[in-house]
Amino acid sequence: MTGVRSPGASPPEQAEADVVVIGAGLAGLAAATELEAAGRRVQVVEALGRVGGRTASHHRYGQALDAGGGYVGVRHVRVRELAGRFGLVLTPTAAPGANLFDLGAGPVRSDARRPAFNALAVGDALDRLDDLAAGVPPVDPGAAADAAGLDRLTVAAWARREFAHPDARLLIDLLVRQMLAADPAEVGMLHLLFYLASGGGVHYLTAFSGGAQQDRFAGGAHQLAERMAAALARPVRLGSPVTDLHAEHPASGDTRMARGAIRIVGPQLTIRCARVVVAVPPGPAGRIRLRLPGVRRPPGPTRTRGATVKLHVIYARPFWADAGLSGWVTAGAGPLRYVVDDSAGRDGLGVLVGFVTGPDARVFGGLSRAARRAAVLDRLAHWFGPAARQPLALLEWDWQAEPTVEGCYAAVPEPGWWTAAGPPWPAAGRATSGAPGGPVFWAGTERCAEFYGHLEGAVRSGQEAARRLLAADRVGR
Ligand SMILES: Cc1cc2nc3c(=O)[nH]c(=O)nc-3n(C[C@H](O)[C@H](O)[C@H](O)COP(=O)(O)OP(=O)(O)OC[C@H]3O[C@@H](n4cnc5c(N)ncnc54)[C@H](O)[C@@H]3O)c2cc1C
Repeated sequence: MTGVRSPGASPPEQAEADVVVIGAGLAGLAAATELEAAGRRVQVVEALGRVGGRTASHHRYGQALDAGGGYVGVRHVRVRELAGRFGLVLTPTAAPGANLFDLGAGPVRSDARRPAFNALAVGDALDRLDDLAAGVPPVDPGAAADAAGLDRLTVAAWARREFAHPDARLLIDLLVRQMLAADPAEVGMLHLLFYLASGGGVHYLTAFSGGAQQDRFAGGAHQLAERMAAALARPVRLGSPVTDLHAEHPASGDTRMARGAIRIVGPQLTIRCARVVVAVPPGPAGRIRLRLPGVRRPPGPTRTRGATVKLHVIYARPFWADAGLSGWVTAGAGPLRYVVDDSAGRDGLGVLVGFVTGPDARVFGGLSRAARRAAVLDRLAHWFGPAARQPLALLEWDWQAEPTVEGCYAAVPEPGWWTAAGPPWPAAGRATSGAPGGPVFWAGTERCAEFYGHLEGAVRSGQEAARRLLAADRVGR
């Protein structure tokens, strides 16, 4: 790869660029790609020793396995466009066979993607969610009717208040743990409704075939970031956390700033530049010290309840297919809440992907390695039989241990946050510091009103930050 420079390959130095992009996740790389195409000298700096942020892969047995974001929906058109542009192939996720639902009375087989719940109760719950979400404008959730009330109310409290039938309550619980990797008792109703409105509705968001999990990258999602980085003129500076943004002339009060008037500072580097794109999640973004006159940090949920440990359990073959099973499991108790079959086909290795989410992830992350392995294999043997106890490998990626990619799958703010803070992007009718004019532009999946929390939201946010930056430069000329 030519577009990535490892830490230590060059000494800490004073460098210059037109634009510095902080963060080499898909948002930062999408911004850098657009800015470079417009003729800017762009330097991307990244805290970790790799690009990709919340996309990453394990490499085992000749396969790349997505440890982070991996699924691409049919409506994720910008990701699809980039995949095509960078020569990557998408492959359908769906695995044939019956699914398992283990919701208290033992595993139940079904060809459906949802448990055999009471149809009236579940239909009512889904309709209510979609109706309420339709009233929440994603670009400004605070403008919804009774936004403050919805924001303070947790999803768990709403489900208890609205639904007498236990199936409706259980469905809501399963959906929130699956979509947001959080406990419904920790999530505000307004955030859930915003997430549904932003992502295309509950059916689309939870569907594989035809939905948000339709495809995955053959060879792993990390390749997209790697190829985008490799195509940049300047190598990404890895292992280079940014701690401070300074004005060179803080007394000037000129918020547009002259060329070369901002200093990007970290233990490994100092770069002078005219514009900055901060493409890091809200938690770490809140820890970068800003000393730029007139620049305010836009709101961002700095306390997040989203937490995930993603596991890959690799077998010599997908033996569950012999029993007519798809490998998909939905469970009502942890640690494994969801299992998906990510095998490349039916003739090679069998790969089960497990998700441990929310409070389960926090407990799981504190167990010993042996205890985690026993807990996972016990559950898999319960569903798929004793052969599940003999994997070739069990790989874990605990995203809670990655302080620079805090919020997994994405930041989930505490109840009340949206109406107290306002949207973390320029909203219709509201002035925010993320508005055109710069010199600091904010990106990242949590700064996108469309497909928040998805790869698609990350790409859109980066492209939008670049568009606003270029527009501001045209006005400033
Ligand atoms: C387990 C898991 C499964 C997921 N599944 C899916 C899925 O199937 N489909 C989907 O669409 N989405 C999924 N997501 C979400 C998706 O991965 C993210 O929305 C997306 O990758 C976020 O991209 P980003 O560029 O906004 O942020 P990030 O990828 O987090 O990139 C931000 C980068 O900034 C760097 N950084 C932070 N602070 C600093 C600093 N001070 N200085 C320099 N660099 C810094 C970080 O190290 C990081 O590399 C999943 C996420 C996880 C964790």
